[in-house]
Amino acid sequence: MIVGILKEPQGENRVAMLPETVSSIIKSKIKILVEYGAGINSLAGDNDYREAGADILSREEVILRSDILVTIHAPEKADIEKMKPGRILIGVLNPFMDPELVNRLQERALTSFSLDVIPRSTRAQKMDVLSSQATVAGYKAVLDAAGRFTGFLPMLMTAAGTIRPAKVLILGAGVAGLQAIATARRLGAVVEAFDVRSAVKEEVQSLGAGFVEVEGAQEDIAAKGYAIEQSEEFKKKQRQVVHEHAIKSDIIICTAQIPGRKAPLILLRDTVENMKTGSVVIDIAASTGGNCELTRNNEIVAHKQVTIVGNSNFPSEMPVDSSRMFGKNVMNFLELFINKEGELNLNFEDDIIQGSCITHNKEILHLKVKEAIKKINP
Ligand code: NAD
Repeated sequence: MIVGILKEPQGENRVAMLPETVSSIIKSKIKILVEYGAGINSLAGDNDYREAGADILSREEVILRSDILVTIHAPEKADIEKMKPGRILIGVLNPFMDPELVNRLQERALTSFSLDVIPRSTRAQKMDVLSSQATVAGYKAVLDAAGRFTGFLPMLMTAAGTIRPAKVLILGAGVAGLQAIATARRLGAVVEAFDVRSAVKEEVQSLGAGFVEVEGAQEDIAAKGYAIEQSEEFKKKQRQVVHEHAIKSDIIICTAQIPGRKAPLILLRDTVENMKTGSVVIDIAASTGGNCELTRNNEIVAHKQVTIVGNSNFPSEMPVDSSRMFGKNVMNFLELFINKEGELNLNFEDDIIQGSCITHNKEILHLKVKEAIKKINP
């Protein structure tokens, strides 16, 4: 079996696999091809890959010769057209947001797996790129906020006076939010967090943060642990409660998301305008619309002395550990369907394979993606 690693597009510093993971995979009789310069922004040179046992080739050669192509971002149309029918593509394909890509993969008769729709089960945890990359995002978002904030985060009692600790509010306590709480607490801030899922209250409190409660949130077992869209009445109440906590905060980290939908709008313009001078809002939900009304994706907005950072790609700013975690997730995923002899053994009865396969044999296999695409192109 030949696995190919492509260089990611401009602006993305990560790579789907570091040399350390390549050498572990090669032990399982898999040949690895890597595009020239693929790891350069993650401090992995072509020679490091060669020493790990990979062959370094042009993009075209990697695409043409690989049985399985692994990327973080989906490859461009021209790359997909070069892939031979029946070959496998693995990446974060974002299939609910990119129906054109799904149609292209189907037409080209490629077998595609999207790592962002792998079931969130205990068995799949080691392949879960959403969790590994959200861990980086939550951590890095707090460091970014601390760097922009004009004061200390911890309480300091010095001969030059006492400094109060900064107040940090975290919106959304999923994987990124919990890591943001832990990071802000390590830096000594006083932290509060808010989520619509009552199940996270204990986790938030066990990390030393206060849980902000808003009564009346709707939860649905069918959402399998994810949040669902809330009623207009709840949203109004929530924005009011968040307003009261936000105007006392120095830093707000926005992480609230609803899978396959626009991010919930929680922090309104009026609230930002009432925040303290010099406050910082970091919105990692920016790419799906953001939790803050003033967020602009990939931009830093200064609004009445509050800085709002719209950044959903913090993992790219910490590329070495992000790539290390991503590569390990991919390696664990490959082990699901490549046997010890390095041969392909795709079992569509396996819930992880079934749950992450988007297209196969000119069909869209993923039922939810198929439904979503039917709605767009009935
Ligand atoms: P996510 O990125 O989809 O959302 C982030 C957080 O935003 C979630 O906690 C969500 O409840 C919250 N949120 C959504 N709407 C909100 C609103 N209006 N106001 C406030 N908060 C709101 O979530 P995630 O981090 O990917 O985690 C989703 C779920 O998956 C969690 O239950 C998590 O524990 C679970 N999970 C399971 C596994 C596993 O078992 N393998 C791995 C990771 C996560």
